[in-house]
Amino acid sequence: HVKAEGRNSYSFYTRDLNERLAERLSLQNEMRRALERQEFLLYYQPQYRLSDGQFCGMEALIRWQHPERGLLLPGSFISIAEDSGLILALGEWVLRSACAQNKFWQDMGYPPLRLAVNLSARQFRQKNLVEQISQILEETGLDPQWLVLEITESISMENVVASVEILQKLKNMGIHLAIDDFGTGFSSLSYLSRFTLNTLKIDRSFVSILDKSAGGHAIVLTIIQLAKNLGLNVLAEGVETRVQLDHLRSMGCDEVQGFLLGKPVPKEEIVSLF
Ligand code: C2E
Ligand code: MG
Ligand code: MG
Ligand code: MG
Repeated sequence: HVKAEGRNSYSFYTRDLNERLAERLSLQNEMRRALERQEFLLYYQPQYRLSDGQFCGMEALIRWQHPERGLLLPGSFISIAEDSGLILALGEWVLRSACAQNKFWQDMGYPPLRLAVNLSARQFRQKNLVEQISQILEETGLDPQWLVLEITESISMENVVASVEILQKLKNMGIHLAIDDFGTGFSSLSYLSRFTLNTLKIDRSFVSILDKSAGGHAIVLTIIQLAKNLGLNVLAEGVETRVQLDHLRSMGCDEVQGFLLGKPVPKEEIVSLF
C-alpha cells in the first residue's frame, strides 16, 4: 500500500516536473521571437525623496506582452533568459530602451531624473559590458549622471577583484551605482566599502517586518545607519503602508519606492508624475 502511494506521488512529481520543463523550453523559444517582434516593454516605478516628498527617480522594470499568455512579470521569464543566455540581448535592449526613453523625456522639457536599470549577473560577467554601456550612452545622447545601474550582492561576490574594477570604470564614466535587494545575499560586509556605490536599496523583506517586531525595526535602523556611515544614499523598497513610511522617515531613510507611493506603470502613465 505504502509502495503504491509512493509510486503515485512519484509519477505526479515527474509529470509536474516534465510540464514545467516543457513550459520553460517553450518560453525560451518564444522569447527569441519576442525580442524581434518587440513584445518586451518597460514599466516605470517612481521613487520619492523623503526630505521634501519630491519625485526624484524611477526604476525601469521589464514586462513581456505575450500574445497568448498576457502581460508577464520578470519572475516568470528572467531566469529562463539567464539560463539560455538570451539575457545578454534582452539586457542590452533594456539598457538602450531605458536610456533612449529618459533622453526623450529630457528633450521634451521634463525635469531630468535618474532612471535605474537592473543588471543580471550574467550581463555583469560579459566581457564588453563597459564598452556596451558607453556606446549606448553615446548613441542615445543621455548624460551618464541620469543612469543608475542596480546590481545585486551575488553579482559582485562572484569575482570581487574583477567586480571592483568594472564598477570603478562605470563610476568614472559618471554613472550611478546601486546595490539592490540589500541584505538578502550572503556577502561579507567588507565589499560595501570596496565597491564604489552611490545607493543602497533595502530589500522589501526588511521593510515588510519594520512595523511587525522590535527586531524588524532594529534591522532596518541598522542598515540605514550602516549606509549613512559609509556615505551612501539609502532607499527603501516595497513600502506598502503609511506606518512603514513614517518609520522610515523618522529613521532618516533618504528615499522610498513602493506600492503605497506608486506601482510600476507604462511610460504613458509615468509622465503624469513629472
Ligand atoms: P527588483 O529590482 O528588486 O524590483 C522591485 C520589484 O518589487 C518589482 O517587481 C516591483 O514591481 C516590486 N515592488 C515594488 N514595490 C513593491 C511593493 O510595495 N510591494 C510589493 N509586493 N512589490 C513591490 P517586478 O517588476 O516583478 O520585478 C521583479 C524582479 O525582476 C526585479 O526585482 C529585478 O530583480 C528583476 N527585473 C526586473 N526588470 C529587470 C530587467 O530589466 N533586467 C533584469 N536583469 N532583471 C529585471
Ligand atoms: Mg531593482
Ligand atoms: Mg530590489
Ligand atoms: Mg529583486
